[in-house]
Amino acid sequence: MRLLLLPLAALLIALPARAVEPVPAPAPPAGPVVLLTDHALDGAGGTLKGARIEVAGGKIRSLAAAEGKGTVIDLRGYTVLPGWIDVHVHLDSHFDAKGRIANSTEAPADWAMGVAGAAWDSLMGGFTTVQSVGDYSELPLRNAIRDHGFPGPRVLTSLTWIEGDARMTDDELRAIVRKRKADGADLIKIMASMSQRVGAGPTFTEHQLGVLCEESHAQGLRAMVHAYRSQVAVAARAGCDQIEHMTYATDAEIREAAAKNVFLSPQVGLVVQNYLENKDRYLGEGNYTEAGMQTMKRDMPEDFRVCKLAAAIPGAKLVFSTDATAGAHGRNADEFLGRVEYCGQTAMQALVSANAVAADSLGMGDRLGRLKEGFEADIIAIEGDPLRDLGAVRRVAFVMRGGVIYKWAGSKEGNAH
Ligand SMILES: [Zn+2]
Repeated sequence: MRLLLLPLAALLIALPARAVEPVPAPAPPAGPVVLLTDHALDGAGGTLKGARIEVAGGKIRSLAAAEGKGTVIDLRGYTVLPGWIDVHVHLDSHFDAKGRIANSTEAPADWAMGVAGAAWDSLMGGFTTVQSVGDYSELPLRNAIRDHGFPGPRVLTSLTWIEGDARMTDDELRAIVRKRKADGADLIKIMASMSQRVGAGPTFTEHQLGVLCEESHAQGLRAMVHAYRSQVAVAARAGCDQIEHMTYATDAEIREAAAKNVFLSPQVGLVVQNYLENKDRYLGEGNYTEAGMQTMKRDMPEDFRVCKLAAAIPGAKLVFSTDATAGAHGRNADEFLGRVEYCGQTAMQALVSANAVAADSLGMGDRLGRLKEGFEADIIAIEGDPLRDLGAVRRVAFVMRGGVIYKWAGSKEGNAH
């Protein structure tokens, strides 16, 4: 009621100004926080013993904090590592109130909550950064998390993808990239092959991919390409940055792509398994047909083959990604188990692919993905030692992003490895 006493003119002046004034994000704790650790992985392949990680202003200030400094959180007994990064998810993909894959008939408010829920689940699973590729509904979520302290992982989004079409002219292709940039995209996602569920045939030509990826770079954006068969090598020759899936590509085509120094992004541990587990929730929507599901299931050994091949190429940049859709958010870490079981990576290699390698793939390797002074305080702790028991990746006990703690199960007194 007190508001009624305000002069009306003051309200009229104040309201528009408020509407454009950014709301400050909740600040991390004012004083420093010190994370006591006895076993930590630095994100780039190294191990740290007894690091005392000092966090202030959302950043890692030191790995050797002085005694008696700041608020102490005891993470001894856990394995501490940089927050994981999944460079290929679909946050927009979620189940609706009836448990079915949501489509455009869902009420916008329900849709928004579904997207936010997928982001929250990812964060709770230890993923402090996700690259979603993509849907326009991810934009307000990305901004709310980045600018207003809304809980969730750091989100990068392509907004949507560019559907392959061999008839499109150079000017048309460049215009789409520029529009995407103007709309706020963090990267460009390009479909160079049809879905695996409808034959996996090629769409764009090498010339077209070259135009798209060149224009992406001119706009300061990275270009990710969904590619099967020979399109894997075609996209790499065209100068694109990252190749998704790679299914049905020959050994020579994958070797050619790796030699172009692109990031290779196969998925083996979660996406298809999740589709099959939740098949009935997907069937009947879009190209989710029984035949399509059977194709994905039949060709899983093919997914494993290309991943194993890529993992064996010296120097190949194999980056962590899941292609997570509804039902899979929050279980992204299952991909680590797939990487070891099906691709032949060591546990350490798989883990690094979601830290330093993933950060590098985002062009953020100078501030994300490593436990290092000056880096973002994106830090997680898991129960157990993943180098001995990889299942530990499913037991995330502590999640800090940008110095803010989002999950903490509590200190494990006397829990030695
Ligand atoms: Zn995808």
